Amino acid sequence: MNLPAEFLARMRERLGETFPAFLSSYEVPPWRALRVNTLKVSREEFLRVSPFALEPVPWAQNGFYLEAEKAGSDPYHFAGLYYVQEPSAMCVGELTAPCKKERVLDLCAAPGGKTTLIAAQMRGEGILIANEIDFGRAVILSQNVERLGIKNCAVVSTDPETLAQQFPEYFDLVLVDAPCSGEGMFKKEPEALPHWSPNNVAMCAARQRDILEEAAKTVAGGGHLIYSTCTFAEEEDEWQIRAFLERHPEFVLEQEEKLYPHKYKGEGHYCARLKKIEGERRRGKSYPIERSTQANKAFYAFAEDFFTEVPKSEIAAPWPCRGRMYLVPAGMPALNMMSRLRLGVELGEFDGRVFKPAHALAMATKREECRRFVSLTREECLRYLRGETLEREIENGWCVVGVEDYPLGLGKVVNGVMKNHLPKGLRKR
Ligand code: SAM
Repeated sequence: MNLPAEFLARMRERLGETFPAFLSSYEVPPWRALRVNTLKVSREEFLRVSPFALEPVPWAQNGFYLEAEKAGSDPYHFAGLYYVQEPSAMCVGELTAPCKKERVLDLCAAPGGKTTLIAAQMRGEGILIANEIDFGRAVILSQNVERLGIKNCAVVSTDPETLAQQFPEYFDLVLVDAPCSGEGMFKKEPEALPHWSPNNVAMCAARQRDILEEAAKTVAGGGHLIYSTCTFAEEEDEWQIRAFLERHPEFVLEQEEKLYPHKYKGEGHYCARLKKIEGERRRGKSYPIERSTQANKAFYAFAEDFFTEVPKSEIAAPWPCRGRMYLVPAGMPALNMMSRLRLGVELGEFDGRVFKPAHALAMATKREECRRFVSLTREECLRYLRGETLEREIENGWCVVGVEDYPLGLGKVVNGVMKNHLPKGLRKR
């Protein structure tokens, strides 16, 4: 690997006698891992059904090293049983674990590794706002939130300033997984190498400072701010946090971790947990819940037939865009002046006549909750994921289709033929 000479000089100075060991770490291929999505399957159950050989990641309760190349195309991946994540990135979970999580903001969230990790820790309770400034990346984040069946998450796309204005002293936990110079990921993403320079490190540090300033405004008194990067540069890591603490005496440093590839089986990562010891915890303005619209009635008529028990949660249609309906988690604050890609669970669309369920509804449902569940063999799954029609002699109507017990999407059975309703963009080519 052609590492920049200036980068190597900086690492030699930083690491001293351990520098040769650091250099040797580039001879090993990048570490691959997955994190079991405990919202869908327990760790034990996954270990029982896993088609992959798995070895635990020591610092992540549900993380496992992975040898298989094909983890991203297995039916269990489509069913959201796991998220493929770089093992060092999972260390953030250790820092977020003890924090209160009634109101959580993930400020730089795409593609969703840490959003999905925190969502699993929240176990569907509280509200999680996942933001990504780049709209294209926010779409991928939203798809991952959907695939993993996360019910209490809104996905938005805006800048940190807008969120700071709307949510002063609001969140119990704010995560800033900052855009950085990526030094820790050179092995995994060598395309980042030509962009590296001391100037770029300085530019990243300045941007991180700005993001941290906005993030700090959103943290409620008693709440936590988690900061992480995948770089070794002190300007972006320890020095960034020391400078922040000098500017913000209302925060204290509680924990700090730096993962080097010659010390752990993972790429480079830095994370710090800060606590805001002074300040208020302000109230937000909640979403208006509409209970008696025509769309709601249509949803309930559908739900009587689809579920074994109709969901009791508050149903809302606050997003009038193209007649879509969402199951908005209680306590979700109004999210104004920003692109909203997802607001809790998307239930479906209502065109004024017929209610059509959304893929997200299937992904957030458990087998025992649906009246009609079609369990597929692995071979049938591949056909379903390619968008093919399958045959099933069951009662006519909408059904959830799954790999064994785990939902993959929707189908609609008419006289023994199950029409495939997997969204075209998610089909396997
Ligand atoms: N947390 C993500 C995960 O675990 O999958 C990875 C986040 S990545 C390290 C940093 C993200 O910050 C990128 O998606 C990038 O688009 C976003 N970003 C870039 N500039 C930003 C800015 N000025 N403010 C907020 N986010 C920014």
